[in-house]
Amino acid sequence: MQAHVDKDTCIGCGVCPSVAPEVFAMDDDGKAVEIVESVPESSADSAKEAEDSCPVNAISVE
Ligand code: SF4
Repeated sequence: MQAHVDKDTCIGCGVCPSVAPEVFAMDDDGKAVEIVESVPESSADSAKEAEDSCPVNAISVE
């Protein structure tokens, strides 16, 4: 499973790193970024929750 943030769409709200800090972080440009190449099984639920929580649908987890 991989997570990806579309930085052009991200508005930097900060939700995804608070929901799944092991998968997402805020980058220096104020946008979110995925910090793992593949999402560990133990983080799959929180990564999906972050995807569902993003207000602008900038996250894909698949
Ligand atoms: S939840 Fe969406 S808009 Fe908010 S920081 Fe994460 S990717 Fe960006």
